[in-house]
Amino acid sequence: MSTPAAEVLQNYVGGKWVPALAQAFVDVHNPAVGSVIAKTPLSTRADLDAAVQAAAKAFPAWRDTPVVQRARTMFKFVYRLEQHFEEIARTVTTEHGKTIDEARGSVRRGIECVEVACGAPSLMMGYGLEQIATNVDSHVFRQPLGVVAAITPFNFPAMVPLWFLPFAVATGNCIIVKPSEQVPLSTRLMFQLLEQCDIPPGVVSMVNGGREVVEGICDHPGIRAVSFVGSTPVARAVYQRGTHAGKRVQALGGAKNFVIVMPDANFEKSIEIITESFYGCAGERCLAGSVLVPVGEAHQEARDRLVASARSLKVGDGMQPGVEMGPVISGTHRDRVTQYIDKGVHEGAKLVLDGRGVAVADRAEGFFLGPTVFDEVSPKMAIGHEEIFGPVASIHAVKTLDDAIALMESHPNANATSIFTSSGKSAREFARRATASMVGVNIGVAAPMAYFPFGGSRDSFFGDLKVHGRDAFEFYTDKKVTITRWL
Ligand code: NAD
Repeated sequence: MSTPAAEVLQNYVGGKWVPALAQAFVDVHNPAVGSVIAKTPLSTRADLDAAVQAAAKAFPAWRDTPVVQRARTMFKFVYRLEQHFEEIARTVTTEHGKTIDEARGSVRRGIECVEVACGAPSLMMGYGLEQIATNVDSHVFRQPLGVVAAITPFNFPAMVPLWFLPFAVATGNCIIVKPSEQVPLSTRLMFQLLEQCDIPPGVVSMVNGGREVVEGICDHPGIRAVSFVGSTPVARAVYQRGTHAGKRVQALGGAKNFVIVMPDANFEKSIEIITESFYGCAGERCLAGSVLVPVGEAHQEARDRLVASARSLKVGDGMQPGVEMGPVISGTHRDRVTQYIDKGVHEGAKLVLDGRGVAVADRAEGFFLGPTVFDEVSPKMAIGHEEIFGPVASIHAVKTLDDAIALMESHPNANATSIFTSSGKSAREFARRATASMVGVNIGVAAPMAYFPFGGSRDSFFGDLKVHGRDAFEFYTDKKVTITRWL
């Protein structure tokens, strides 16, 4: 369903909203309704180059702006984000589909990143030592890199851009953000707020687009560092292409997260948390539970409780009160997830809850799928191995904790994992041996917090420095050492 009135979005370059030189456009949908609400231009390399030129022009003065003054712009940004909190959350739900409460939670997490970036005067500080030789002192200073870029995915339209922009700006860089072409409206709204924060033209830019802009970012000699969040194949390609061009790159990829349930877990509370982990944001989270691994006698109770809990979830338009799970992002993605369910049945897994063909009253055109549970899944099956990124739980029962860890460790992705247990010994053993960088103990989604490093391991992360907290300040700065002698 398309309306001729759908607005064609503009880029934000050099402090102005400008039309892209694009010849092609991507429809932005309201996934709950199925309607087209905007059109994203697939900008060209020339559009990107204009943004890089504007950013490069802005950089010398921005680098020289006192750090407290740069931080102050981020305090202003926090104020604007708080003022428009509900509008941003509603925009997230409108273009992505997640429930309004989930959208609010994600905006809150994003604002926390801006708050941490406001600490730049302390967090960017270097260190020094006097008298390293007679009358000689030495100091380390952190200096901004220059023009940097961030490329973001569809599943957290407001939060993920805020993983990067505030840290880059507060440390004195100029940043170009390329949002997902599927959900550009939340980023646009945040740029409209950035316009009110006394940030000089060129310091922050937004270039809409897809592959051409991403490849342009990797190749452009004027861009010093690239942050990427998205699927593993694209993360790997961006890392390889960007580093080949001499850039600093951090690329966060896809996931297949294993959630272990021990027989000594508190089943009532655990399954409530696990249900949220698997079906929150309709399973479109890189930290969502994907494979449930009950150990020993936990199998039957974990499965039966999960099925009952998943079945009770109210699916619908995320904007409506009481709805617990919204649609997936697009009709194409719903078809893709449906194909995984078909394949699971075909490959011999036991379908114990089928979410295909779910009907939502008054939302016949929405991209809905119901919660789905498979039992008797093995890693040889597509649903046991590949990232589905939808509301599908795969259960793979094992005999011991060692078996659970071995199963998890045999998967190439290692983003997050969780264990549910009342045994400190099991929890400790699990946390110590898991390769995944985010480990939850009786926590369903081991979520990123603004002041701790975040990013996966193995095929879920390509790079050295992770995102958030001190790593963000490291990523966006170079260290310079001065050695001084007064004669
Ligand atoms: P995606 O990889 O399709 O797209 C991510 C970005 O890359 C978008 O901006 C898109 O325009 C661009 N892109 C897509 N295909 C490209 C190509 N061939 N060449 C160059 N650029 C391309 O990911 P998505 O579907 O938007 O997001 C879902 C994926 O992101 C899932 O795999 C999820 O696990 C992952 N994700 C990871 C994290 C994390 O922190 N590790 C967080 C959120 C999402």
